[in-house]
Amino acid sequence: MAEEKNPFEMAQAQFDHVAEQMNLEPSVRNMLRWPMREFRFQIPVRMDDGSIEVFFGFRVQHNDARGPAKGGIRFAANETLDTVRALATWMTWKCAVADIPLGGGKGGVVVDPASLTTGEKERLCRGWIDAVWKVIGPRNDVPAPDVGTTPQMMGWMMDEYSKLKGEYTPGVITGKPVGSGGSLGRTAATGFGVVIHIREAMKHLKMPSAGKTASIQGFGNVAQYAAINFIEMLQGKVISVSSWDRTDRCAYTFTKEDGIDPYFLQSITDQYGTIDKEEAAAAGYKVEDGDAWLKKDVDVLIPAAREGVITEDNVEQISEQVAILAEGANGPTTLEADAVLKKRGVFLIPDFLCNSGGVTCSYFEQVQNDMNYYWSEEEVLSKLDQKMSKAFKAVLQMSLEKNLFMRDAAYWVAIASVERAMRLRGWL
Ligand code: GLU
Repeated sequence: MAEEKNPFEMAQAQFDHVAEQMNLEPSVRNMLRWPMREFRFQIPVRMDDGSIEVFFGFRVQHNDARGPAKGGIRFAANETLDTVRALATWMTWKCAVADIPLGGGKGGVVVDPASLTTGEKERLCRGWIDAVWKVIGPRNDVPAPDVGTTPQMMGWMMDEYSKLKGEYTPGVITGKPVGSGGSLGRTAATGFGVVIHIREAMKHLKMPSAGKTASIQGFGNVAQYAAINFIEMLQGKVISVSSWDRTDRCAYTFTKEDGIDPYFLQSITDQYGTIDKEEAAAAGYKVEDGDAWLKKDVDVLIPAAREGVITEDNVEQISEQVAILAEGANGPTTLEADAVLKKRGVFLIPDFLCNSGGVTCSYFEQVQNDMNYYWSEEEVLSKLDQKMSKAFKAVLQMSLEKNLFMRDAAYWVAIASVERAMRLRGWL
C-alpha cells in the first residue's frame, strides 16, 4: 500500500521536478517552493444550543507577483495547513497557465459543513472573514468557493467584509449568488472548462467526440457540469459517476451502460454531492463500490473529487481503452501514478489547466463587479471558451516543442510566467 500522500510534499515534488528541467535559479526555487504568507486562526462560533465551538481556519497566500492572490475556501473535516498550502501553490500555477492577472491563495476550515445548521454555517462564514478581513481584499487576496462551500456562503462573507469596510465591496470574493454580485455561468464554469479541454485534446488526438464514453469520480459541482457538457457539447456518453455517501461514510459508483442522466442524478443529489442510492437503484442505476469508476472501459476518465486518488496502488487498474485523463479535481494523481500514465501514453490534462475554468470565471466576475455592469451567460461562456482553448494550446505547444509530459509542460508555462512577473517587479 502506498502511504497517505502529503499534498504539499506532492506539490513541492512536482515543482522541483520541473524546476530541475528548467534549470531554475536557486532564488526562484526558494521563492516558489513555499507560500509567501500563511495565516492560521481560531474562529469561535455560537452554536444553536448556546454553546461556543472553536474552529480552526487557514488562509495561505502562495504568490502574488502576477496580481492579488486568488483561490477558494474549503470546509472539510480533514483540512490541514499542508492541504491548504498545496492548494494555494496550485492556484498560483492555475492563474498563470490560464493567463489571468492573479496570484495563488487558498483557505480552509476544519469542519464537516454537513454537521452545521444554516445559522451555524452563516456565523462560521462571518467569523472566517472577521479573522482575515485585514489581509484580504479586491487588490490583495480574493477568496471563492471550493469543496464544502457554496455561493450562499460567499454572499454572507461578502456582506461581512462590506460591513467591516463600511462600503459595498463585491470584488472581495467570487462565486457569489447571481443577483448578489455573482456572474452568470460561474456555477457551471469549472465543469464547462474541463470539457473544453477534453474537446481540444480530442482534436489534437484526432478523435471524433460523438459517442465517446466517460467515467467520472465525484458528483459535486465540477463533476455535474463536466457530465452535462460532455453529453451536450461533445455528444458523448457518461456511463458512471461516483459519489461520497455521507451516511455510510464511503463512496459508491452509479453506473448505467446506456448513459447516465445528469439532470435526474442532480435531482436526487444533496448540496454536498451525495446521491440518494435507493432512488438511483429504483431508476435502474447499478450501485457499485466507490472504486468502480476507475476501472471502466471508457475513452475518458475524469477524477473530479479529491486529491491523491490515483496512486501506484490503483493506476494499473485503469482500462487500456482510456485515452484521456482529465483532472477536474486538484491534485488527484500522485507522481508515481504519473510515471505509469506517461509510459502507457495516456493523454493527461493536468489539474491546474483542466479545472482553470472556475477561477477564470471568478476573474470575469471580479471584472464585472469593478465595472458594475454584468454580461449575459452567453458572453461569459464564450469568453471562457476562448481563454481555455488558448491556455490548452499554449501548454500543448510547450509539450510538443520540448517533448514534455503535459503536466510538466503546464508547470513550465506557469513557472516561467510567475518568474517573469517576479523579475519585472524587481523581486529577484
Ligand atoms: N476553488 C476553485 C479552484 O480550485 C476556484 C477558485 C476561484 O474561483 O478563485 O480553482
